[in-house]
Amino acid sequence: MKHGLLYGLLLGAVAGSGFAADNNIFSYKVGGLEVYTLVENRGLGRPDVLIGLDKAALDKYGRGGNYQSETNTFLIKGPNQIVLVDTGFGTTLFESLKTLGVSPDSIDAVLITHLHGDHFSGLQKDGKALFPRAKVYLARQERDYWTRTNVNPGAAAALAPYGSKVETFLPGELGSKPEELLPGITPIAAFGHTPGHTLFMVESSGQKLLIWGDLMHAELIQFPLPGISVTYDTDPAAAAVVRRRVLEYVVANNIPIAGMHLVYPAVGRVSREESGYKLTRAE
Ligand SMILES: [Zn+2]
Repeated sequence: MKHGLLYGLLLGAVAGSGFAADNNIFSYKVGGLEVYTLVENRGLGRPDVLIGLDKAALDKYGRGGNYQSETNTFLIKGPNQIVLVDTGFGTTLFESLKTLGVSPDSIDAVLITHLHGDHFSGLQKDGKALFPRAKVYLARQERDYWTRTNVNPGAAAALAPYGSKVETFLPGELGSKPEELLPGITPIAAFGHTPGHTLFMVESSGQKLLIWGDLMHAELIQFPLPGISVTYDTDPAAAAVVRRRVLEYVVANNIPIAGMHLVYPAVGRVSREESGYKLTRAE
């Protein structure tokens, strides 16, 4: 629960402290699909989780040492399927779904980017599946790592109520032509933050959106300085390498991105700036 606890500490203090209902849901069209950002939690992250950030860089980019962060999930609504990507802590997620008129038992699939508590805790409560009709999909590497080593007993408990409805896959390589997991949704490997951390490329009618999970936690600092990783990356060096690769890829291919810890609307386009990158938010 390292990550989940950490975020609990960082952001939990502001949970329920309230933010306007009109800025915790954002909708974004990808061809014939509607993708919704569902903000569950927002607050200030602490700079001491950023590895190797010196005082000068912190002063330049860090606006006094704190940076905004959120916990978001994404809902993909298409004509034939409703898919949730991550479940956050499972708190205001359910209010947001209600606002959208989406009942939890209408969700066909839950995709999990990785097994940290702030991504899987909405899957179950008291051993009961909160998405009773859904299949749960995650990378085989991710399931194997967290359940075999028992590093995070909460991860196994989150999957247990889904039994045989948990399906694992092997994510494809960025830039190759990986196989779709579900119509219009392709998993892509971005190992580093965790051993099976997965991005999901959403595609419809030639339009794309890359939901990039936890490729970035502190956007204020990691867009300009993508080499900075966080203490809760399983492999911080690998996380930095994959972050740069993905940033270059989305810039080169002009693909919009969405992230679980980006700031509302947590969707936008990346461009190069100085020796790093910047995000232009969707409107
Ligand atoms: Zn996270």
